Amino acid sequence: MATSIQPLPIEVVNLMAAGETIDAPAAVVREAIDNAIDAGATRLAVALWLDRGCIRISDNGGGMTREDLLCAAAPHSTSKIRDRPDLFAIRSLGFRGEALHSLAQLSQLTIASRVANQAGWQATYNPTGEVRVCETVPIAPGTIVTVDQLFGSWPARRDSLPSIAQQLRAIQTTIHNAALCHPAVAWTVYRDDRLWFALSPGDSVRHLLPQILRQVRSSDLQSVDWVADLPPDVSIAPDPSQPAPADQSRIEVTLALPDRLHRARPDWVRVAVNGRMADVPEIEQAIFASFGRTLPRGRFPISLVHLHLPPQCIDWNRAPDKRKLYLQPIDHWQAQVQAAIAQAFALPNTDSEPATQAYAIARTAKLLRAAEQRPTYQTATASPDQPPTDPEPLGELGHGERLGGPLRAIAQVHNTYIVAEHPGGLWLVEQHIAHERVLFEQLRDRWQILPLDSPVVLHDFSEPERDLLVAIGLEIDPFGDRCWLVRSLPAPLVDRPDAIAALRELAQTNNLEAAQVAVACRTAVRNGQPLTLGEMQDLLDRWQRTQNPRTCPHGRPIHLSLEESSLARFFRRHWVIGKSHGI
Ligand SMILES: [Zn+2]
Repeated sequence: MATSIQPLPIEVVNLMAAGETIDAPAAVVREAIDNAIDAGATRLAVALWLDRGCIRISDNGGGMTREDLLCAAAPHSTSKIRDRPDLFAIRSLGFRGEALHSLAQLSQLTIASRVANQAGWQATYNPTGEVRVCETVPIAPGTIVTVDQLFGSWPARRDSLPSIAQQLRAIQTTIHNAALCHPAVAWTVYRDDRLWFALSPGDSVRHLLPQILRQVRSSDLQSVDWVADLPPDVSIAPDPSQPAPADQSRIEVTLALPDRLHRARPDWVRVAVNGRMADVPEIEQAIFASFGRTLPRGRFPISLVHLHLPPQCIDWNRAPDKRKLYLQPIDHWQAQVQAAIAQAFALPNTDSEPATQAYAIARTAKLLRAAEQRPTYQTATASPDQPPTDPEPLGELGHGERLGGPLRAIAQVHNTYIVAEHPGGLWLVEQHIAHERVLFEQLRDRWQILPLDSPVVLHDFSEPERDLLVAIGLEIDPFGDRCWLVRSLPAPLVDRPDAIAALRELAQTNNLEAAQVAVACRTAVRNGQPLTLGEMQDLLDRWQRTQNPRTCPHGRPIHLSLEESSLARFFRRHWVIGKSHGI
């Protein structure tokens, strides 16, 4: 039977185009929020009556004039982009004019708005985006967008929406994401005339995250505001409307300290670009790589990285929902993000003091210098025939401004914990895993295989086991049935009596990094071993210089800090009892 192909009616084509911009109630919320924040709003109220497809978003932003309202929902109308070159200089959020036009097509759209010191106006629109009625209305400065009977003219779409519960979850995620990108905005969200949730504003993500993720406390978080280098071929023309110096871009990092908090799922590694959550898989990979070997197996970081970049480094047109985008050049931005995260990982001067920008930059310079010198580690247990290397002299950094502040070894407890005095209070450092962290980073940066003067014989070793050792760089020859001649070893294992046991362990690891962790663990100072004050101080100094001092390569916390403020609170030092108590 022959079928004829007929063109779709133009109304259906338009409806489908609108439905691509606005595919669900969460998209209505997203578009309205973008417009409100662009208008400078600091307070947003969202009210939902989803069973009748009604959404109302009120803001205290700059508002629209009557003339704005008259053309707000016309096709491809936007005050933000007028011609093509502007597409490459996008800074605002709601840059695509179709949103309000789409809403007019898909719902009964009403917008009330008032510019300060002018009359307020309320416009209702017909499905083509033309104004049906526009009359004065007494409202506060700002804008109220009301969408009613969403998808009412498109029953098939309305009936295929996910459940109300799922719609609510998507809306909540949309609002949380916007709040994390704009911490200074206050939010109240109502559902069927009842308050559903509210978010109080703050000066940073550290204030917002605990309101969104229940198990997070702001003391578990570290924030860094990093002045990023621009790619070599990018320069920014001075823009008088931008408060920041024109030659800068910034990366704000907020992360849960790996020794305090992590998650069972990799769902809280988020990337935002210029005020909007974005899918940039390459940056997510860089974040996960930065957390490599800092968390327990199967646990994942909490980290929000917000890049503030010049528009010419961003291609927003990766996908129509404005979430997925390309950054250029991507390897440059990956490196900048990792540098910013490295700052967040460093031990702070005191636990309660967030790293300031100037402090972070000063520390970077020192980190780089320390990395260039790359001192090799020596302990009392190191073999005597290795030439002693001079670690970075203490004087160079100046004792008062060491990374993480000066830390003085005082005593050893149970031959396991180093007690150290710190300007912020008292720290306990577990000696084995602190040393393990030092050795692991050293091996990761410089994996050295040394030839042996006399080869070691390995008995009862299978061929697959041999292959794993060869894969991590060892030279091994056959020496009979299940016997092998090992001609080279990782540097730390040379001359160790337990070298063969170490090789059996290494043959169980499945990659180089795991082998490096195993070697670090085996050669690190044991718990139970007495240390002199000098050895403890030496270990502390080297540990403070590591890139990820907070956890060992297996993800265990390395230090416990007793802050002076909490000690003072515990000992009730604010009590005034008498002059004899040394108060
Ligand atoms: Zn260990």
